[in-house]
Amino acid sequence: MRVVIVGGGFAAVQFAKNLRRKLDASKCEILLFNRENHMVFHPLLADVAGASINADAALAPLRQMLPGVGCRTERVQRIDLSASEIEFDDANGALTRLHYDHVVIACGAESNLGIIPGMTEHAFAFKVMRDALDLRQHVVRQMENAEASSDPDRRRWYLNFIIVGAGFSGVEVAGEINELVRSSTRFYRNFQKSDVAVTLVHSQDQILPEVAPKLREFAQKRMQKAGITMLLNTRAVAATHEGIQLQDGRMLGGATVVCTIGTTVSPIVQRLDVPKERGRMRTGPDMRIEGLTNAWAIIVNAFDNKPSPPTGQFAERQGRQAALNLVRVLKGEPTQPFHFKALGQLCSIGGYEAVAEMLGMRISGFLAWLMWRGVYLFKLPTWSRRIKVALDWAWDVIFPRDLSFLNTDAAKQLTHAYYRPGDFIHRQGELAQVFSVIEEGEVEILQTTEQSSEPKVVAVLAKGDFFGEAALMGNRPHETSIRARTVVRLAQIGSALFSQMASSFAPLRDLLSKAVTRRSGDFWRRLPTAKSLLDRESIASLLDPLPAKLLTKDTTLADAVRALAESATGELLVIDEKERLWGTLDRDDLYHIIARIAVAPTNARGDVTQHKLGDLLPGNPVYVALEDSTLAASATMLDHGISWLPVVRSEDDPRPVGRLRGDKISYRVIEKLGHLEMDHSRAAS
Ligand SMILES: Cc1cc2nc3c(=O)[nH]c(=O)nc-3n(C[C@H](O)[C@H](O)[C@H](O)COP(=O)(O)OP(=O)(O)OC[C@H]3O[C@@H](n4cnc5c(N)ncnc54)[C@H](O)[C@@H]3O)c2cc1C
Repeated sequence: MRVVIVGGGFAAVQFAKNLRRKLDASKCEILLFNRENHMVFHPLLADVAGASINADAALAPLRQMLPGVGCRTERVQRIDLSASEIEFDDANGALTRLHYDHVVIACGAESNLGIIPGMTEHAFAFKVMRDALDLRQHVVRQMENAEASSDPDRRRWYLNFIIVGAGFSGVEVAGEINELVRSSTRFYRNFQKSDVAVTLVHSQDQILPEVAPKLREFAQKRMQKAGITMLLNTRAVAATHEGIQLQDGRMLGGATVVCTIGTTVSPIVQRLDVPKERGRMRTGPDMRIEGLTNAWAIIVNAFDNKPSPPTGQFAERQGRQAALNLVRVLKGEPTQPFHFKALGQLCSIGGYEAVAEMLGMRISGFLAWLMWRGVYLFKLPTWSRRIKVALDWAWDVIFPRDLSFLNTDAAKQLTHAYYRPGDFIHRQGELAQVFSVIEEGEVEILQTTEQSSEPKVVAVLAKGDFFGEAALMGNRPHETSIRARTVVRLAQIGSALFSQMASSFAPLRDLLSKAVTRRSGDFWRRLPTAKSLLDRESIASLLDPLPAKLLTKDTTLADAVRALAESATGELLVIDEKERLWGTLDRDDLYHIIARIAVAPTNARGDVTQHKLGDLLPGNPVYVALEDSTLAASATMLDHGISWLPVVRSEDDPRPVGRLRGDKISYRVIEKLGHLEMDHSRAAS
């Protein structure tokens, strides 16, 4: 018989241990699949981030912990419950199937920073060991940056640490960062404790909602005394490179944002077609998935008939009992419902203090902290870990925390960034550090000239466009500013990585050189009269009316083809439910759609004529607003190699008002140049 366990956390380890103890290896093969080859002891992640213990003390290698269990470091991609098989990537990346007699799904939750715009790009999650290690490196780097900074505002920005969410992990990580940074200021000359700010942002009126009010108040007071600012009843609504935006519109600046809220169920659970409650699988009291006899998951508590809270305390006991229930099933005995009352709560708040609720007792302060450490030391899975952690903790009490870090070179990295409408991505005159590709949204290129200090929009870029190449290739500051027109998401390549790519890949180098020539100020400097004519010409004076028929996202392909055939220009606009411009459709788009449909598998195509434009077109087209200059519109068309642009009422009201055609602009310029010529000749005669 083969039992497959998916996951390698608290629940999976207890399940494997107990099942191995009860069933002989000759009768039952136990295979445990986990993405990593170790178990992470989550309660100690904050200590790793705060440099009070080393990372390896909070990890336990699975195969050393689980003798007699086959431990596989592989990611399970799918569970086929009807065929009793799992699909996983093997060492060569090939998808492999494996039969099981029983499967246990214990793959925990995943962090989901996507619930607040910009968090994925700019905040640290706090769930896996990589998060804690990266955060620790980053915090120490900010102290080094602050030491090197001569600008007091920038220095304070480096030393502002923002933690979103004041549940257990938020409170613990805030306490640890506060302790690490404040206790380390004595090693730096350029800043002091008073320059450091650690802020906990929490949407409720109390931190630690799970613990008793008295302990909560104690924790709050002590953390405030230690220098942590609490922003309660406050929600973060966006994160950017500069910090976070709060719901009242205020911006809280800081170089470090940790987001401890937002989790989602694992993708393999999302893909399972079983009864679910708020995304989690529904199980019977014995922990078998409803309607199945050989698939186990770890959820409901018969103590209160509610889903168990997502804590290690519950996961461990559920893992143990699921194993015992499986043994009962094999012996033909009745299974037992999972029944457990939480023993208590422990939370460290930094500064050698904690709050604890255990078996009805409530303790706070140093004694609670000793208890917290004692309980977790005892709960660590192996003796070697216990000794290691005890030594690290003893070291931490006597000696200062370790401030060494590995310098990762940002210039060699690919990162992602989020900007709100109106945010500057870079400003004219700043040094170029990254090459950016627009993944979502639209930006405007602004330039101030010798004649006017008021920046003017000189072009608009949209999804798929790029910028930053000219300054990087010319090794000079930016000649223009770039500002987000809408919400913008960018992929950004550091300067060193960009140089390597641009010099190694000939097609990329050619593309970039052409873009530099096309966009350079020289292009327009060679055409000064045309430039000033375009600058003065209003878009309204050249506007073509809206097409007779506006398409919507629900228009079918058949209707769209008919509308294109009837249109004189072959340039159609697609609007959304609020009549805002959503997309454009011309004959080129039609060819792309046909090409895409042609390569799709025949059985996946369905009735092609009834496909909706909303599913066929990418949306998010490049456009200009009536208030933009014709020069900006021309530069935008030139840059995109397109011959027309949709025009909207204004940036704030993107309902389409007409179309602007490149040939009409050229004709107007020629016409005006002709008039100028005639004026000159008249003046000369
Ligand atoms: C920072 C932090 C502090 C915490 N502090 C406490 C505390 O003090 N007390 C407490 O009781 N609880 C605490 N918790 C909660 C506790 O850690 C979790 O509830 C517990 O880990 C859940 O156990 P689990 O076995 O269900 O899942 P996890 O421990 O999350 O383990 C799931 C495992 O499955 C693996 N996995 C996922 N998908 C796949 C796949 N497709 N293929 C293969 N492997 C996969 C993952 O890599 C992971 O190793 C804390 C959590 C965090 C994040």
